[in-house]
Amino acid sequence: MATATAPAPTKPKHAKPRVPDQQMLIGGKWVGSASGKTFDTTDPTNGETICRVAEGDKTDIDLAVKAARAAFEFGPWSKMDAAERGRLLNKLADAVEAHKDELAALESLDNGKPIADSLAADLPLTIACYRYYAGWADKITGQTLPIAGPYFSYTRHEPIGVVGQIIPWNFPLLMQAWKWGPALACGNTLVLKPAEQTPLTALRVAQLAQEVGFPDGVINVVPGYGPTAGAALSGHMDVDKIAFTGETGTGKIVMTAAAQSNLKRVSLELGGKSPNIVFADADLDAAVEGAYFGLFFNQGQCCCAGSRLFVQERVYDEFVAKVTAKAKARKVGDPFDLSNEQGPQVSQEQFERVMGYIDAGKKDGANMLVGGGRVGDKGYFIQPTVFSDVKDEMKIAREEIFGPVMSILKFKDADEVIARGNKTLYGLAAAVWTKDMQKALRLANGLRAGTVWVNCYDVFDAGAPFGGFKMSGVGRELGQYALQHYTEVKTVTMAL
Ligand code: ADP
Repeated sequence: MATATAPAPTKPKHAKPRVPDQQMLIGGKWVGSASGKTFDTTDPTNGETICRVAEGDKTDIDLAVKAARAAFEFGPWSKMDAAERGRLLNKLADAVEAHKDELAALESLDNGKPIADSLAADLPLTIACYRYYAGWADKITGQTLPIAGPYFSYTRHEPIGVVGQIIPWNFPLLMQAWKWGPALACGNTLVLKPAEQTPLTALRVAQLAQEVGFPDGVINVVPGYGPTAGAALSGHMDVDKIAFTGETGTGKIVMTAAAQSNLKRVSLELGGKSPNIVFADADLDAAVEGAYFGLFFNQGQCCCAGSRLFVQERVYDEFVAKVTAKAKARKVGDPFDLSNEQGPQVSQEQFERVMGYIDAGKKDGANMLVGGGRVGDKGYFIQPTVFSDVKDEMKIAREEIFGPVMSILKFKDADEVIARGNKTLYGLAAAVWTKDMQKALRLANGLRAGTVWVNCYDVFDAGAPFGGFKMSGVGRELGQYALQHYTEVKTVTMAL
């Protein structure tokens, strides 16, 4: 029985970790950069340096590609049973799970996302992704072909070879898992360049991969900047495929580099300006919750954020009032305080960019109902911001903001909103909220996007492919579909 003197139940403690300076992983060795240069990775809550990280450039990328090539051609990797590759991926999943508190803290420190989110979303999705692709390793099969003549003909799905992977800072652990899972399951070797803003968890997971027994050179991690290390990787003559997630503009640069070097295979997961469409017959409270989550989650730093929120005119005022009240109540602050829902933007640059969009919204005549300013006087915290009366041609309705800024537009009927929803260069995701399933299916078919959510938002699963129509990307990540981006098909025909 509780007494007055019983100690209060203690909340789980999540202290900011201390992190030593970091090296890079090349050919199974932890080394400094060839140039001796380092860069600072900073804490977005205060702009202070967390630690220094070896800064990779062309020479380091060259060395990493050589190591990956050797592991692919000659190492135990190429001769390893597929089931053994799957076992290693499962062991990596186990290791990530065993270190989930440490990794969540490191992710929140480097990126600024609330630790509650790292623990509830990033870590479980990351672990599930490694496990999902572990299962695929020994199930990648070709076909036997009934071709004419006295021949035996079949296909083999072989690994592409050395894969370069460039990831962004918004979901560092998860983007690494989306890239590593299918690449390793299919038998490739890889060189990863994490984002310069968030290199820490990639390096820690690489250490875990080494500990669970991935052979030297199969996994190489070279931190560094985009125009140097990233460009060296995407333009490398001995990299067989490049997988990139980031901005559409950078995706074009990566694709050009691939074309101008060795025509390496390219998969891209890029930006979005996703329509989130609420009909008057929807469960309004669920739609408010979904719109709020679909925009503000991860400080608004999601490529699939529901950043064009279309609300049908009959419920527009009620909806706007409800979602604005929620935004007003959102708790912004220290990511290591479990009760906070929103941390800082990742960097000064992103902070300024988002503030620039808020200014543009005001100048273009949108109605700012809440937010619009910075929180505190240090770090990159921005108030959750809601604009109503947004028009299609306004800058905030056309360009990707990547911040906690909601733009609400009004619409009349289904035909109109399908047309307006599709009036964008992007096509990453879309959502529709309605109780009318005929209408839901009409919208799901009519919206040109790689993912359409119906009465939900941001539902991700390792088994469900994700990627963009139009300028939101090339190819699909996750699910069985991702495997085709990590294999070459070989036809073998034998005379009988
Ligand atoms: P953001 O501006 O949000 O950081 P980017 O698309 O620039 O988005 O960054 C995503 C990833 O692409 C990062 O790892 C970054 O270093 C890398 N990158 C940036 N520029 C280039 C480039 N020119 N070539 C290859 N990679 C790049």
